[in-house]
Amino acid sequence: MQSYAFRLKFSRRVLGAAAIVALIAPFLLHSPPLPAQTRDRVVNLYSARHYSSDQDLYDSFTRQTGIKINQIQAGDEALLERLRSEGKASPADVVLLADAARLWKAQSEGLFQPTRSEVLKTMIPPTYQADQLWFGFTTRARIIVFDPARVKPGQVQRYEDLASAALKGMVCTRSGTHPYMLSLLASIIAHQGEQKAEAWAKGVVANLARSPRGGDTDQIKGVISGECAVALTNSYYLVRMLKSPKAEEREAAAKLGMVWPNQASTGTHINVSGGGVARYAPHPEEARKFLEFLASPSAQAQLANGNNEWPVVRNVQINNPELTQLGPFKSEQLPVSVIGKHQGLAARIIDRSGWR
Ligand code: FE
Repeated sequence: MQSYAFRLKFSRRVLGAAAIVALIAPFLLHSPPLPAQTRDRVVNLYSARHYSSDQDLYDSFTRQTGIKINQIQAGDEALLERLRSEGKASPADVVLLADAARLWKAQSEGLFQPTRSEVLKTMIPPTYQADQLWFGFTTRARIIVFDPARVKPGQVQRYEDLASAALKGMVCTRSGTHPYMLSLLASIIAHQGEQKAEAWAKGVVANLARSPRGGDTDQIKGVISGECAVALTNSYYLVRMLKSPKAEEREAAAKLGMVWPNQASTGTHINVSGGGVARYAPHPEEARKFLEFLASPSAQAQLANGNNEWPVVRNVQINNPELTQLGPFKSEQLPVSVIGKHQGLAARIIDRSGWR
């Protein structure tokens, strides 16, 4: 008010403008209290997903429910860091992250609150629910790609084969400290125990064609360039290359060999992208509605197609010929919470193996 009084001295035009500003400012800056039914119709979404198709998804949620989505997009680690530093003052309602390793990390740091929802409990298979704190919404597989000119498919049927002496100097992976590798190792710990998991990690390190660098796409490109003969990648990176706008990339990816590992035993390692309601969510009811929406058939298809993944909800059809042509496979049946619980041990094994 002081500033208005000050401006009054100058001119009527300024006074008129100030009056208008004074009238609309509350709506621009600080909304005045609204009746309960129109207040808080918003979800503040912290998302590590970054696909243009997701915006359509959020728009249809707003159309269906009248609840607006305010999105903050950042990398998984940046979002976690932001949540930690914001603490109780965090405006975050829903947090979406990739990989059970990161979701577990958020859970173990107390960044989620429980969501009691019959819809989520019923729609999402129990394997992809973690203590009602977070839920997987899409799945991806960790697969092996190889150069058919240097490796026979029979040599790389299992994750275990990557540690076999026959592949010395041929294997490429990203750093063992990355969540995707920690989760795979956590799965091996769950299936085979600590000793075998550690022997496996050391065996893979001994077979590396180069010291780990880059992401999964860089490992696929390493096989294409001939620097590597075998690599580990999440399935959607391969599909992305099979759909590349660059013809030479599409053709190179199509020539690669690809294996769904461990079909004769535990099945191919499956991970999720998922999320939950933030610990200090200002709008927990709206947040729950948003998660329930993500479990609806149309949202499931859209989420999966957006990143060449699979829906977690049964009987949801996806339209993704490049993914479907990779063929059916047996997937691992391991609760995401088990993958979470072995993260600490997985990190220690990676450390002891020097898989940096
Ligand atoms: Fe990824």
